[in-house]
Amino acid sequence: MTINRRSLLTGLAAAPAATLISGQAGASTATAPTGLPPALHQFSLGQAKVTVLLDGHLPLGMQLFADFDADKAAAALATGLHQLTAEGVNIPVNGYLVEQGASKILIDAGTADLLGPNLGAFGAGLAATGVKPEEISTVLLTHMHPDHSGGLVAADGSAVFPNAELVVSKVEWDFWHDDAIMASVPENSRGFFQMARGTVAPYANRLKLFEGEAPVAAGFTALPLPGHTPGHSGFMLDGGDQQLLFWGDVIHSTALQFAYPDWTIAFDTDAPLTVETRYKMLDRAVADNLLLTGSHIDFPGLGRVQRQGDAYGYQPAPWQFGLSSGG
Ligand SMILES: [Zn+2]
Repeated sequence: MTINRRSLLTGLAAAPAATLISGQAGASTATAPTGLPPALHQFSLGQAKVTVLLDGHLPLGMQLFADFDADKAAAALATGLHQLTAEGVNIPVNGYLVEQGASKILIDAGTADLLGPNLGAFGAGLAATGVKPEEISTVLLTHMHPDHSGGLVAADGSAVFPNAELVVSKVEWDFWHDDAIMASVPENSRGFFQMARGTVAPYANRLKLFEGEAPVAAGFTALPLPGHTPGHSGFMLDGGDQQLLFWGDVIHSTALQFAYPDWTIAFDTDAPLTVETRYKMLDRAVADNLLLTGSHIDFPGLGRVQRQGDAYGYQPAPWQFGLSSGG
């Protein structure tokens, strides 16, 4: 079966994620679909140059949160200067380019046109860095949701990154490719399986599946963070003096989930495990004073976690001017 963009969109429309679709978009990699210039932030970590590429934003409707409390949410949003729109709270979708010498590695690839015109700027951002898709050697995938894997596949079903090896958790790969599991989920959730399969299909012959905490590319070690999806993983970059954790979707809403880590969203495959993993990760981030970045932390999404009473807070790193990490 050939899966193209139309069938992916059809699949999505059948899924609960339909609430996320805010329109239809034409595929474009030259400019961001919003018409705005691409937004990116570059900084250095040891010898690595890291570029955060803003794919766009998603509104998270309050109905998607379990245990949602409107008064607590209003207070947390106000504290963080976050706005609540009619669609909910807007969260960014961030992806990354990491350059180390000749090695050019992506972490996730944005949505392309799978989730509407407020997203899909990842390709334009990458173009703005001067790095061509064919130069990408590796794509590290945190998990197989469309806001992370959508940008892997072109409108005609071919690989956007023709020379890249795709690196993803074996647990994650097996889950989304399991026909029995797909048959067991509600019919309106099966679109996620079709999308997951379609976005990674062109990479099936250059695939690296990892298990557990494993080295996955030069300088990178995978860190299993299960719950949001079964094989959801972070990637730790060893920059010599400093490490940086790309933690994927440990947090979806900067405004709400550092303050209320128990609040899960409808897209978490296993809500109790999501919460357990989140607490473990937040505790470790505090204990190790980890520098981290998240796919949905407020752009550019680089900072640290602090303890605040019984919960946590996010301390954004100051904008790094220039690419020298010295001094
Ligand atoms: Zn996500």
